[in-house]
Amino acid sequence: MGTTVEDVVIVGAGIAGLATAVALKRAGVEALVLERSEGLRTTGTALILFPNAWFALDALGVSHKLAAYAPIPKGYVTDLDTGEVREISFTGANGDTVGPKPVHRKVLLEALADELPVHSIRFSSKISAIETQQHEGSSIAIIHMESGTVIKAKVLIGCDGVHSVVSRWLGFGEPVLSGRSAVRGLAVYPQGHGLSQNVQHFVGLGRRAGMVALTDKEIFWFFSCTAKGITLYQLQGPSLAKDPKDIQKEVLEKYAKDLPHLYRDVVQHSNLSTLSWAPLMFRYPWQVVYGNLSKQNITVAGDAMHPMTPDLAQGGCQALEDAVILGRHIGTSFVQNGRILVPKEMSEVLGKYVEERRWRVALLIMGSYLSGWVQQSGSGWVMKFLRGTIFYKFISPKLFRIVRYDCGKLEF
Ligand SMILES: Cc1cc2nc3c(=O)[nH]c(=O)nc-3n(C[C@H](O)[C@H](O)[C@H](O)COP(=O)(O)OP(=O)(O)OC[C@H]3O[C@@H](n4cnc5c(N)ncnc54)[C@H](O)[C@@H]3O)c2cc1C
Repeated sequence: MGTTVEDVVIVGAGIAGLATAVALKRAGVEALVLERSEGLRTTGTALILFPNAWFALDALGVSHKLAAYAPIPKGYVTDLDTGEVREISFTGANGDTVGPKPVHRKVLLEALADELPVHSIRFSSKISAIETQQHEGSSIAIIHMESGTVIKAKVLIGCDGVHSVVSRWLGFGEPVLSGRSAVRGLAVYPQGHGLSQNVQHFVGLGRRAGMVALTDKEIFWFFSCTAKGITLYQLQGPSLAKDPKDIQKEVLEKYAKDLPHLYRDVVQHSNLSTLSWAPLMFRYPWQVVYGNLSKQNITVAGDAMHPMTPDLAQGGCQALEDAVILGRHIGTSFVQNGRILVPKEMSEVLGKYVEERRWRVALLIMGSYLSGWVQQSGSGWVMKFLRGTIFYKFISPKLFRIVRYDCGKLEF
């Protein structure tokens, strides 16, 4: 059982953890990333990244590696109950397509990981507990690994996802279940699918489905539905299918049997290894606004800070913003102190990061939840009014402005 001391330890090699390590590296700060899995985890197959994520990827210096992914020009939302179709244009004021782009999760994670020295990501390394120790008037994090190893760090950043050990240490409980679950999958057409680049959504009472072309041979699809009264135990247990073949059958025969043939064909073409159900969870926004998102030299980023429902496709985008802003605060202190990480300053530095983030991510948690609720709550006249008059006319344009936010460069 050895003990080592690191400048920065990041828990989790997901989008948040890897992007934070890349942001710190740009300032010259070395970080050790601890990941419990044996390799990069690519559950979820693909994700959609809005312009805010691309600004962050520019700052991290990796967006050029993802240049093959094209922006989505338009979205179509079909109301399954009324048949009404709403068109959403992603064309900017000067005619450019400023739409989101779908990317393979694996490609994104590898693009980030490739920026880091090989030895800086330690796989099969699960943290089990955290404590702090005072040393010469400042705090040092003591990280206990499941293997028995103990690592000390001047700064500890929890990027360990929805069930974060680090956010529990900060005083947060488990995130809440939204009452919905989702499946994501990748459909493969070896001869090409011939579909346009537009994103298609189908929404109805308690259901939301979507699909978008990733390449000319692959389509990313998702399906979410209400799972009323289902407990966390049941969601992780036997209530929703686990075997990929059963998941595909369940979507086709139970939940999406009345969806357009095109969507069902996509589900039928799924690469089975990509299918899994996930309970959709979020943190109450007021907990993010008023909670301790940092304490002494310990903080959180990504889903560990702000789990949100995927209705605005912002979880990963916000993780990238977190990384740039956290990297900028720590990096600036490092550079100003002659390229040394001064433990005494870290509490204040992390505090500034948290204050820059908390209102924005709380707003997005709320916006995502509302967006899902308004779109999937049926076609009664009240919901129609809320959806058509309030949501699409007033709230949606504001949300789209929020997801075009530029978190700035990483220049030291
Ligand atoms: C159905 C669905 C659709 C989505 N679609 C989109 C989308 O289109 N666009 C978008 O931007 N976002 C989307 N999201 C959200 C996005 O997937 C997440 O917000 C994002 O993956 C969060 O990244 P993260 O790095 O914070 O967490 P994670 O990806 O969960 O990574 C956490 C890492 O920490 C590791 N870890 C956990 N505990 C420990 C431990 N104790 N010790 C060591 N390592 C540990 C895990 O193994 C994992 O690798 C979607 C989410 C869902 C559920």
